Amino acid sequence: MVCRSPLQYHTSAVEGTCHYCGSRDQWYISCPNGHFVCDACHNQETMQQIEAIIFQTTSTDPFAIAEQCMDLDILPMLGCQHTYIAGGALMAALKNDGTFQLSDDDIREVFHRTNKQAHGGYCGLTGTCGIAPALGACVAIITGSKCGTDKEQQFTMELVFRVVGAIRELTGPSCCKAYVRTSLEVTVDFLEQNFSITLSAHAKISPRLQTGKMPLLPGWFC
Ligand SMILES: [Zn+2]
Ligand SMILES: [Zn+2]
Repeated sequence: MVCRSPLQYHTSAVEGTCHYCGSRDQWYISCPNGHFVCDACHNQETMQQIEAIIFQTTSTDPFAIAEQCMDLDILPMLGCQHTYIAGGALMAALKNDGTFQLSDDDIREVFHRTNKQAHGGYCGLTGTCGIAPALGACVAIITGSKCGTDKEQQFTMELVFRVVGAIRELTGPSCCKAYVRTSLEVTVDFLEQNFSITLSAHAKISPRLQTGKMPLLPGWFC
């Protein structure tokens, strides 16, 4: 995003200042020339285009909505923008379906919660891909789950457990787009089993056939 050098991924945090907004923090991704870019600045332009799709679509097919987002030329091959695509596509489809009477504010709430738990590089650093909490946030909003609730929290954790397991099966190497597609399949099946809700029919994509579109702006360059 600054000098286009290959990015360096660290196992220990490095102190630095965001090239764009000046925020100071400890980072796990930098470039050899000392550039740091925070998640908010890194994702800003892509998120504007993702949000335009999510908030304007009338589709009830989360897979079609996600594919429309993943077709954006600006979307890097890897990156936490995919977590917002997963949660946003599901919530938009559910909102348009009408069963749960969701609103745009509910989608914004999913994005807010996702922002707390999806951070660049943390899939490798802690073993948690942000797509899992993004979809967990969707289910938590449907059930009203919050800290201290009983069945609602268990239900939300069950979905997250299944999504994490499905993503684990796809690792080596990572492909964020494959994670989005498979995680949505797990979540749609889960909602169908538990709420008898059927979102628009979709063609399931075999993980073997899933490929990440080569990006114009690769995710691993500064
Ligand atoms: Zn750089
Ligand atoms: Zn910044």
